[in-house]
Amino acid sequence: MQKYLTEVSFTLDRHVTLVTQTAPIAPETHGGRAKCLQRLVRLNLPVPRTVALSFDTVKAISLGRIPDTGQLLSVFDPDALLCVRPSSQDPDWGGPTTILNIGMNDAACARLSAELGPEAAEALYRRWVQSYAVHVARLDPDAFEEIDADAPDALARALRAYEDEAEEPFPQDPATQLAEVLRSMARAWESVSARLLREAKGAPVDAGLGLVVQEMALGFGPGESGSGVLQLVDPDTGLKQVTGRYLSQSQGRDALRAGARALYLEADPRGPSLEERAPEAFAQLKEHAALMRQRLRAEMQVEFTIENGTLFILDGVVVPASDAAAIRIAVRLAEDEIITPREAVMRVQPRALSSLLHPQVDPRADRDVIGTGIAASPGAATGRIAFTAADAQAMAAREEPCILIRRETAPEDVRGMHAAVAILTEKGGMSSHAAVIGRGMGRPCVVGARNLRINLKRRQITADDGRIFREGEIVTVDGTNGEVLAGAPAMLGAMLDDAFRTLLGWADEDRDLRIRVNADTPEDAEKARLFDAGGIGLCRTEHMFFEPGRLTVMQEMIFAATPEDRRAALAQLLPIQRADFKELFAIMSGKPVCIRLFDPPLHEFLPSDRAGLRDLAEALNLPVSDVTRRVESMGEYNPMLGLRGVRLGITVPEIYDMQARAIFEATLEASRKDEPVVPEIMIPLVSARREVELVRKRVDAVAAAVRTERGRDFTYRLGVMVETPRACLLAGDIAPHVDFLSFGTNDLTQMTYGLSRDDAGRFMSDYVQQQVFDEDPFHRLDTAGVGELLRIGIERARAAKPEIIVSICGEHGGNPESISFCRSLGMNYASCSPFRVPVARLAAAQAAIRDKIEYS
Ligand code: PEP
Ligand code: MG
Repeated sequence: MQKYLTEVSFTLDRHVTLVTQTAPIAPETHGGRAKCLQRLVRLNLPVPRTVALSFDTVKAISLGRIPDTGQLLSVFDPDALLCVRPSSQDPDWGGPTTILNIGMNDAACARLSAELGPEAAEALYRRWVQSYAVHVARLDPDAFEEIDADAPDALARALRAYEDEAEEPFPQDPATQLAEVLRSMARAWESVSARLLREAKGAPVDAGLGLVVQEMALGFGPGESGSGVLQLVDPDTGLKQVTGRYLSQSQGRDALRAGARALYLEADPRGPSLEERAPEAFAQLKEHAALMRQRLRAEMQVEFTIENGTLFILDGVVVPASDAAAIRIAVRLAEDEIITPREAVMRVQPRALSSLLHPQVDPRADRDVIGTGIAASPGAATGRIAFTAADAQAMAAREEPCILIRRETAPEDVRGMHAAVAILTEKGGMSSHAAVIGRGMGRPCVVGARNLRINLKRRQITADDGRIFREGEIVTVDGTNGEVLAGAPAMLGAMLDDAFRTLLGWADEDRDLRIRVNADTPEDAEKARLFDAGGIGLCRTEHMFFEPGRLTVMQEMIFAATPEDRRAALAQLLPIQRADFKELFAIMSGKPVCIRLFDPPLHEFLPSDRAGLRDLAEALNLPVSDVTRRVESMGEYNPMLGLRGVRLGITVPEIYDMQARAIFEATLEASRKDEPVVPEIMIPLVSARREVELVRKRVDAVAAAVRTERGRDFTYRLGVMVETPRACLLAGDIAPHVDFLSFGTNDLTQMTYGLSRDDAGRFMSDYVQQQVFDEDPFHRLDTAGVGELLRIGIERARAAKPEIIVSICGEHGGNPESISFCRSLGMNYASCSPFRVPVARLAAAQAAIRDKIEYS
């Protein structure tokens, strides 16, 4: 029996084509699998005879026009069994299930009984009847599941069940079987659910399906026989290692039945490896896999059968690699000069880099999911439940990893968040406090976990299924996919290695958008240097006031009864801030540092519970009732739209004066003769030109005073955060007064939609599920609405001041699609949290490469 051929060029008709070296087959007409099989044929690999049906043919089949299957069958050995596999243009778009063993009938069973023994032949036949019944005739699967596979009359019962359910005997004619298989697969592709599924993966509405009909190499026989898959890498790590599965039929009597021995290629305690069983076939297989890697320019998983010691290659698919593996594979292919470095850069999903930077739950581990929410910061961590920042700190002091669980977090939780290994909140969205801080710190974080009920009084959480988890119990937060798991599943460590650096080095060669980091502390800045950020794009100075010792001084400043008292408190804060800035300048050694003046409403720094109020009263030597009254009087209904940002700078100008002085003094102290520091100062939440004029006047005055006092000169740049819709619309009015604009798309999204960044998590999944929003707009920039404001802002600002520097520093600055959009608007840089810097570098490079390819 001729199992494969390579030379005959033979076309049944224009659309049903024998796969030969020269046949006209393309992914756009016959699908990726058909094309790949042709490539394998061109490599002279032992591929069983295969016929490809084009998209047009399959479409016609779905409309009832079945090709002449009798003629189709004449291409194959009359005794062969056939399989039909889907061949969509992009394998990711999926397709109907492969159907095996077409042609099996009473006669074939009798013939195979002689070759394989009746048990194996009947088992094969019974499985075929069942698969045909369920996948092709669409009969009730239960009628077949009930049949005991070990019963001696299992085949007869399956045939009877078919006849009962279908009200006709099981079709014996192979041509009829094949016609029905083709019809059912073609129709399955047209079903609504299949269409929605592939469209979600980016398939166009009219995506076609091809089918390949292939002669089966059964993997049966008296000599070594079996089937399996093999690849030359470990798909989890991407390291060079032969891995795969092989099911040998030689020893099993009914080897097709589940439970037959699976023999792994690598040393397996359960039996001899394929290498030991069939060394020649194994060596050939490795050679074929290496040839496929070289010529198909990808690490390939080879699907094969061995029949009486002879090897057949049934198919090849790109190895389904983990994120970490994908990076190593791409880099090694480029190092081996199989692909170019640029191709390697384009082959890695930017998000995949995140998984190299953080430990992850092992994909092979069992997951006991107890809650879900928004995946706000990637990575996974296991620890004991803590419900307050203080408890988290206490556990950390005892070296017990802990998970901080809060309804939502506030600035006073920051130290507890630092102490925790992961953060989980009931409320919040992609740019709520917990999410922003969690990402900044690189802590795994899930927010908006609505289906976990938190009871702070009882110190417990209740899962949807009623299970209760108490303080101190162990849970795992998986911030990569937004899940909370019971217990401690197996983890994979972070895998930052040479491949990662090599890939980013290649990416930087094409990148034309600068990437900075949002860093508030020296630790963040150190991380930013590790990830090669081009400077600090946003230093949120308020985060510096939560260190022990500083908060009390801050509170004294807020409570100051007179301007003198306030100045005295600020005088204490000045050296602290100066030291902070000096350290940041030193760490960033010459790279730009953009410092945002104080932004949040002051009462965020005041306690909200009794114990905190008492502590504060003691520190300030005031009665608790006074402190409580003052705290209450400062409360606002809508603090995010209240006295914060530049409004605070206008009404309590001493705070910005102190910060400007700290920045300038630090500038002089950190500057070296050959390397002067040029700080950037950014004013938050601006909505009117006059705000900028007022702040600029005071900042200029402080600069002049510092120059005079120190007898030294320096320069600085002043900019505005554009995060209100009005600032976008009036950017042309504001631009002449500043050196740069940085779009704060967290607040801008909040204000454009009128959607609270802290509360949106409550209903975001409903909105996305019902397609009101394509995606959470705090996660991926809304190009239609918020993006339009960005476009208007940039156009008007550049019209008024062409040399103005424009950037983004909202959380979208770390989102690959948003980065590409910002680049297309002509921004100069994007700034994002430290652990997203590598993602941003790769995403920006890919956007640049896509443009270059398009225009070349
Ligand atoms: C923003 O609003 O986009 C921003 C960067 O500032 P913050 O998140 O601190 O409000
Ligand atoms: Mg903001």
